[in-house]
Amino acid sequence: MPGFTCCVPGCYNNSHRDKALHFYTFPKDEELRRLWLKNVSRAGVSGCFSTFQPTTGHRVCSEHFQGGRKSYLVRVPTIFPLRGVNERKAQKLNEQRDIIALLEVKMKEMKGSIRRLRLAEAQLREEIREKDRLLHAASAGTRKRHGL
Ligand SMILES: [Zn+2]
Repeated sequence: MPGFTCCVPGCYNNSHRDKALHFYTFPKDEELRRLWLKNVSRAGVSGCFSTFQPTTGHRVCSEHFQGGRKSYLVRVPTIFPLRGVNERKAQKLNEQRDIIALLEVKMKEMKGSIRRLRLAEAQLREEIREKDRLLHAASAGTRKRHGL
């Protein structure tokens, strides 16, 4: 496939296919480069992280940056969904998503219940008003008949 494929183990994003993403080269700044290497950790692929020498052909896609892109504040890739620690975090995230989805369903149900209760309440009010009116009319009629 033409274009750059992200060099993060387990990530197959490609600049040709995923046009919405950015693909960054490793920084020239030594400290930053060290952090990038540490985070990207090619150990899983090459078996020896220390020998991984990224070239301009090695790119890291924007999905590994907080907020979805490299910026002045986000200069180091930190998002690696396939790595151990993040795996647990991703699992937790999934669990939270499940809970949120469940709560949303419950909330919809509750909204439905509230709507039904309000309707029932309105109906009851209407019935009471109607009975009141009938009672009023009846007593007025009684008074009329008795000439009061
Ligand atoms: Zn990637």
